[in-house]
Amino acid sequence: METPLETFEEPAASEVEMVAPPTWETPAEEEPAAPPSGREAPVETAAPTATLEGLELTVTAGFAEVLGEFRDKLCFAVELHSATALELPESAEFHELRAVGGLMDRDEAGLLGYARALLMWRDKHRYCGRCGSPTISINAGHVLKCSNATCNLQHFPRLDPAIIVLVSDGERVLLGRQAHWPAGRYSTIAGYIEWAESIEEAVAREVREETGVIVDEVEYHSSQPWPFPSSLMLGFIAHAITTAIERTDMELEDARWFTRAELADGVVALPPEQAISFRLIETWYDRNAERPLRAEPNAKTASFAPRPR
Ligand SMILES: [Zn+2]
Repeated sequence: METPLETFEEPAASEVEMVAPPTWETPAEEEPAAPPSGREAPVETAAPTATLEGLELTVTAGFAEVLGEFRDKLCFAVELHSATALELPESAEFHELRAVGGLMDRDEAGLLGYARALLMWRDKHRYCGRCGSPTISINAGHVLKCSNATCNLQHFPRLDPAIIVLVSDGERVLLGRQAHWPAGRYSTIAGYIEWAESIEEAVAREVREETGVIVDEVEYHSSQPWPFPSSLMLGFIAHAITTAIERTDMELEDARWFTRAELADGVVALPPEQAISFRLIETWYDRNAERPLRAEPNAKTASFAPRPR
C-alpha cells in the first residue's frame, strides 16, 4: 500500500498556506441554510479583511478559523486561493512547510502543521459523505456538520496512523528507496496501518510486502507527526529472521542491506537529520559503532533546507 513518507516533492500551488497574524476579522457567521433537498453549492462567505504589520489587506479566502492563542496572540488559519492572494512585505515569502518545518522551532512547526492539516481536511469535507449535502463548520471549524437536518452527521478531523521501521539482522540495516527520490537516497520501511490490524502486525506486514523479509521482536522507538496531510508516524526497530529480499508489492524501486561502514562511508544518502527515519537509523548505528553517525565526516544526509530559487 501507499508509503506515506517524506516525498520531497514540489508542492502544488494550492497546498501553500499560512497562519494569519493576529488581527483577522472573521466574516459574520452565516445562518445555517434550511435543510437542502439535495446537493447544493457550499455557502460563499465574504472575503475576510486582514491587518498585516500595519497594512490593511483584503484577501480572497475560502474560510478562516480560530486556532487559539500562540505566544499571547490569537491565531487564525486562513485558506488562501493562491499564493498571490496576499501581498506580502518584501522581506516575507511563502515556503512549503514540508521543506522548512524541520528548520523551525518545534512549537511553530507544530502550529503550522496543525493549521495546514485543518485546512486540507476542511477542503476535502465540503460535502457530507453520507447524503451529499454541504457541511457547516461548527466548534471553530473543528467539526463539520451536515446541513441536512434529517442527516445531521458530524465529520471529525481524521488522523492516519502509519508505521516506520528500521529492520536489522544485527550487522546490517534494511533500507529501501522509491523511484522518485533523489539518486542514491535510501530510507527505512514505512506504510499505513490497515483496519482491524494491530500496530505490530502492520510493521510485520509492511516489511514483508515491500521487501519479503520476516521480522520479529518489534520494539517501539518514537513518533513524529507528519501532517502532509494527516499522518502520525509511529517508529519501530525490528529484528529480521530472514534476509532474502523480494519486493512483492513493487512499491519500492530497490531494497538493500547496508553495513555500518557503508553508511559511514556515504555509500547511501540518508534521510534528513530531523526525520524520524534518520533517528531510527542513528539509534541502530550508534548502538554498536566507534563514534556517532552524526560525527562521521563522510556520511551523507539530505537536507530540509528550502530549495534555492
Ligand atoms: Zn448528511
